[in-house]
Amino acid sequence: MSNIPLSLIIERVSICPDSPFAALGCFRGTVRQMFLCRQPSTERWSPDFSASGEKNPEWTRANCGEVELCNSLEWAEWSANPVQVQLCDACGTVGCASGGYAHVSTLSNLVLWTAPQTVAESDFDRIFPANPIERFGAVVFLPDVWMQLRSVAANVPDAHQISPSNGCAIRDAWISGPHRPKGEDRLRDWLHRRLLAADSLDCVEAITWVEHWLSWFDSKTSIAIEGYIATTEDSGALIEKLYFDGPGSEDWPALARLDDRIVPALSPTHVFVPL
Ligand SMILES: [Zn+2]
Repeated sequence: MSNIPLSLIIERVSICPDSPFAALGCFRGTVRQMFLCRQPSTERWSPDFSASGEKNPEWTRANCGEVELCNSLEWAEWSANPVQVQLCDACGTVGCASGGYAHVSTLSNLVLWTAPQTVAESDFDRIFPANPIERFGAVVFLPDVWMQLRSVAANVPDAHQISPSNGCAIRDAWISGPHRPKGEDRLRDWLHRRLLAADSLDCVEAITWVEHWLSWFDSKTSIAIEGYIATTEDSGALIEKLYFDGPGSEDWPALARLDDRIVPALSPTHVFVPL
């Protein structure tokens, strides 16, 4: 899969000057699904450890536009999964703060951050997604962008050392997003109760396709997924948007026509192509 041309996965940026996300190079129309980090910035900073009586360390924060991705590239425990990418800034101990977690995986040569997986009920109020995942559903890093983070903090793992994305990770990148019910069961219920129309599929077909892919991902929850992410521009995929009974912000570009297939769309400009 390393022979996939880079042009297939390069984001086409459309700057939306009126958007609060303009600095991010926002997605066409809306930013609420799979955020592709193209230009991260890093800054050195020192958290205040005085309350814990420890010396203030020097940390490197990684941002993308105004969004904090990680507050300590050095202290995050990259060998764990989920990784707490936003650490307690009063002591730096992993697990001291609640939340701030990302499931880190790789799909072909991209690094994906998605919601933490298989969280026990007792951990629901402790292990929840980092802010950028709450905000966008998923964050994706191009190889050179990940290398850039690695170049400022050597313990950020090489992409080759990160485990491949499983079905859960790609499903989460696909179905997670603000305004969308969390969890598969609630999503299915929402589709059946609230779907009004799709671009060209009728409602029954659209729901059938979403359920087809949910089942496909379910059958591969802990198996490495074979596939790649392509832009609509380079692949010629046509987004199939689903329209719901409610505000337009809830409409979901869930599927795409690609040649004679219907595949999951991860954002208005990116699709997942299973191999
Ligand atoms: Zn703490």
